[in-house]
This record gives sequence, structure tokens and C-alpha cells, in this order.
Amino acid sequence: MAGKKLTVVLSQGQSKNPKHRKLEEEIAMQLLLAGDVEVSLIPHLYDMSGDHTGMLFLKSIPGDVVLLSWLYPRGARWVLDRQNVRGQEGFTLITSDDDFDEGEEEIPEDQNPDAIGAVNVPDRRIYCIDLRIHADAEPYLEEIKRIAAEDATETVDLLSWITGEPNADQLKRYLAPQPVDDEPVIIPSPQDESAPKRRWYPVIDYSRCTNCMECIDFCLFGVYGVDSIDRILVEAQDNCKKGCPACSRVCPANAIIFPQHKTPAIAGANGEVAGLKIDLTKLFGGGEGGDALETAAAERDAELLKDGREAVGMTVGLPKRQADKPALEKDELDNLMDDLDALEV
Ligand code: SF4
Ligand code: SF4
Repeated sequence: MAGKKLTVVLSQGQSKNPKHRKLEEEIAMQLLLAGDVEVSLIPHLYDMSGDHTGMLFLKSIPGDVVLLSWLYPRGARWVLDRQNVRGQEGFTLITSDDDFDEGEEEIPEDQNPDAIGAVNVPDRRIYCIDLRIHADAEPYLEEIKRIAAEDATETVDLLSWITGEPNADQLKRYLAPQPVDDEPVIIPSPQDESAPKRRWYPVIDYSRCTNCMECIDFCLFGVYGVDSIDRILVEAQDNCKKGCPACSRVCPANAIIFPQHKTPAIAGANGEVAGLKIDLTKLFGGGEGGDALETAAAERDAELLKDGREAVGMTVGLPKRQADKPALEKDELDNLMDDLDALEV
């Protein structure tokens, strides 16, 4: 029994860079000609609102998905999660130098035992692939072919299982309405009113987030909130100040991603986790030797001043970034810092 075709979604870049457009078109054309997978083009993933046609299409796909985008896979994955497009992380052979070093073991999703994790993750895979890694279409086409072959094998296994004793999740997914096979390809043009405006907001990686709430204390612009199960969430994303990544520097778990930031660690590159490999103050401190918290406070002050509000420096909402340190025990240095804060030095 033939299985459903794998769906490949190509999220277009924000710029009109002709090289980017050429690569996107080449991949889409080759996939359409081969006809082995379903192909759709959508606008830039990060910019789409939850009710944009492209996002609604993503939400309607019940099975495995390959998402090609101009974002780090980790960034893309948590942007999807924010829009309730969820699945197990699909393994891909296409990784960048910003991700894992050659020969290095992949860091498992449950890397932080205290992380709250994603909720309601269905039994399907989402493969996020970064289009910035190769300039040619060929490596992407090869990888999609490999994933499609793997997917076809698994689909047959799943169907044979369904004829036996399906669990509730499998049965629900199997009975869910399927999109039509010849889903139209969406190609937004710059004049197309469906092309979304550029956005800037934080995305939370729940495989790292410990729900410590330090980001909600730090942000003075009302971006963060909590959901019905008291889990941190980005509630008012468009309140975030364009270009500012301040709260990502404050998060003790390095769980806040700004997918468009120029610093790979902030934009969602893998491989720098909880200080295991690199001194995080260098990654999040805004420069060699910069202090992450001071940089964050300065960035926040700049935004407060732009809004006509008063700067608060390091006096408000600054966390105990060293999470291991007991919150109530203060040493001499803490007391000295408190005294200096009181003097507003
Ligand atoms: S500061 Fe980081 S770990 Fe803490 S709640 Fe916010 S995102 Fe999660
Ligand atoms: S970058 Fe600034 S405005 Fe945006 S969520 Fe973080 S602290 Fe708030």
C-alpha cells in the first residue's frame, strides 16, 4: 500500500537577493519535476502571523514535513512550535559549522533535565533545514530524497501497525482530514498583499527553558506572559523592540532565540549549550569580554529612552544568572554590589 507523499515546504527569504531566489526556484522546480514529494512555497516563516495562509497551510499538514528556510533549524523549529506546528525533531545530514563540529555527538533534545519541554508533540517528524549552508540545490535535493525514502519505509510500517492495534494518537491522526494531493504552490511576490511585513520578537526554546520567569521580570515592555498551565510564553510579540535582543542575554538557560540576530548563538545556532563548549559571556555579552547582563541592561535602557521613559540600568529585573547559586545567600561581593546599586554608581 503506497503511503502519503512527504511534504516539503520552502520558506522564502526576506530579501530579494537574486541568488537566494534562484536557489529557492531551482529546488522547487526540481522537486516538482520529480514529483516524489508535495511541494509548497510560503513567505518567510518568522514573519507570518498565525492566520496567514502560509501558516494555515503548515498547520494543515498532518504528516512528516521538511521545512527549508533561511533560519537556523533550532530557530525555525521553535517558531513553528509557537504557532502550534509541532512534531519530533527530524534528523538531517545537512548541518553548518555553527552547529555541531564534525565527529561530535549530537546534543539530545532533553539536554537540560530541568527544561519544561514542548507540550502536545504529535507522532510525526519535522525536518528543519537551513538554506544558507549550500549555494547549490543539489545537496538539498539529495537530502530530501534520503528523507523521503526513510519516510516511505516508516509510513508502510505505520500503516501495517494501524491495521493491528493503533494507539489513540495514531488513530486520531489517521482519521484526520488529509490535504488534497495537488496543493497549490504559493509563490508570494513583493506586490502580493499576503507577503507579511518583517517582524522582530523572541522565540522560546522549551527544550532549554526552565520556566524561571527571569525574562518576564526583565522585559519592561510587556512582551512575556504565562499560559493556562503557568508556562512562560511570548504573549505580545509585536511589543518587542526591533533589533534588541536584551532578554536573550539575561536568560540563564540560553533559551531565548531571536532568529534574525547576527550572533549565531542568539539566532538559534546549536552547539553552544549552557556553557558546555564556550564561555557564554562572550556569546551573549555583545562582544569580546563584554558582560551579558550589563549589555542587556544598556540595550533595555536605550529602548526605554526611545519610548520617553526613564532608564533603569541594572536596578530592575536583573536575575541571578548563575542558577546554581542559592538565591537567599549573599556574599560580600553581593553586598558590595547592593551598596553600589543603592548609590547608583
Ligand atoms: S528566562 Fe529563559 S529559562 Fe527563564 S522563563 Fe524565560 S525563557 Fe525560560
Ligand atoms: S528584546 Fe527587549 S523588548 Fe523584546 S522581549 Fe526582550 S526585553 Fe522585551
